[in-house]
Amino acid sequence: MSKAAPSKQQEVQRIVEALSLAIAQQRLKPGTRLIETQIVEALDANRNHVQSALQRMVLQHIVTIEPNRGARVAQPEAREAQEIFIARRAIERAIISSITPDKIRAWSDKLEQQHLKEREVIKRNDRQDIIRQLSEFHLLLAEISDNQVLREILANLMARSSLIVSLYLRHDASDCQCCEHSSIIEALKTGDIRLAQTLMEEHLNVIEQQLNLTTSPEVFDLRQALRISA
Ligand SMILES: [Zn+2]
Repeated sequence: MSKAAPSKQQEVQRIVEALSLAIAQQRLKPGTRLIETQIVEALDANRNHVQSALQRMVLQHIVTIEPNRGARVAQPEAREAQEIFIARRAIERAIISSITPDKIRAWSDKLEQQHLKEREVIKRNDRQDIIRQLSEFHLLLAEISDNQVLREILANLMARSSLIVSLYLRHDASDCQCCEHSSIIEALKTGDIRLAQTLMEEHLNVIEQQLNLTTSPEVFDLRQALRISA
């Protein structure tokens, strides 16, 4: 059984997950060109499957495909950024509601490792690594919740969140959130779902407040820039 070739569906899913993770971890930045042949090579995949994966990611708003310009990592606008955070608050609330103290105990080693990694990257002060590790925490909670649907939705939202964070995070924003993560876990250990939800909501509010959503970076209107006022 284990030697059976993966189905097209499984292959496409594998490619979508690999690309989404790279985007969620900011290894692929907004606007990056996604060249099919390079993806085929890097993921040892079939070209057809890569095309299907990219098409699916267009529907998920993680990738854009323009005629003659090919596929690129999406560059979400400020309005979309606000909507993503509203969606994250709802989904992460649902994730927390399915995490029991038993599940936390079963995952305690992994959670401890995660906590140590977060502290380490914060100490090293490597912004890229910090963002990567901090988003990993949220994906881990989705895994612990053991709800496949919520996991898939959050994987999509985290990929889109990472695009937003790389486009809009204020340069003066502070990165330290690992203590907020710890307090969410402490609440979950005692089975206080409501407290954990409140802490998560506050945590997401803090992240959203660190974004500068009043101006759109990167978006540049040549006509407007060249307009001469009378
Ligand atoms: Zn966080």
